[in-house]
Amino acid sequence: MSVIEVLKQHAPAYGVEIDDALSQKLCVYAQLLREWNEKINLTAILDDEGIALKHFLDCLVVGKCAEFKAGQKIIDVGTGAGFPGLVLAAAFPEINVTLLDSTGKKLKAVEDIAKNMGVSNVEIVHARAEEAGQKPVFREQYDFATARAVAELRVLLEYTLPFVKVGGHFLSLKGASALEEIDGAKASLSTLGGKIERINEFSLPGGDKRAIICVKKISHIPSRYPRVSAQIAKKPL
Ligand code: SAM
Repeated sequence: MSVIEVLKQHAPAYGVEIDDALSQKLCVYAQLLREWNEKINLTAILDDEGIALKHFLDCLVVGKCAEFKAGQKIIDVGTGAGFPGLVLAAAFPEINVTLLDSTGKKLKAVEDIAKNMGVSNVEIVHARAEEAGQKPVFREQYDFATARAVAELRVLLEYTLPFVKVGGHFLSLKGASALEEIDGAKASLSTLGGKIERINEFSLPGGDKRAIICVKKISHIPSRYPRVSAQIAKKPL
């Protein structure tokens, strides 16, 4: 079965709709992901089923955990090959998605893939999250932040919450360690004004455990956060 056939077979069980326009875009995405991966290391998951389920479906479920409204702004921190940000931009053409990563060559691939998919509601930003989060042009400008496979939750909160408006949300895509990471993130949540609103737990076909942690930003963040990389690494909140 092709990537799209696998995706269409499993998506309905997750309440995810794959229409023709999205199928076409994701088909191009899968093809270019493989092509670019021959030049630079984007992902180890390249088989049809893996791309369909571990990349596309995993990211599309995020759309079931939030109500995205036209004109809203999302920033995907540590987007890598565009997960989940580029998948969400393809599925929700009426939202504006910023794809941020510190690795320029990955962003070059993502820019090319987005262009060929015909996805224009994305902006590419080459920066470290903790540096961009101190800049007024990015700070508290977003309705949602997302991140998958970037850092443990207590560190991720310092990377992502500075981008989010008060009242907005951070959607953290996690695996089986989600509850443990939440336990370890209590100090970080209280320092950075985040509150866990809900946790959507599910399993991908095949059994991989997944969780989307929805964190609401309830107050402004003290201006000293995010700190510089070395401090975050040395003394995570
Ligand atoms: N989110 C993608 C996914 O799920 O496939 C990529 C995950 S990859 C393991 C982690 C990515 O986060 C890398 O592309 C890396 O460059 C980026 N990254 C790590 N720390 C970062 C930081 N502080 N600021 C921006 N990007 C960062």
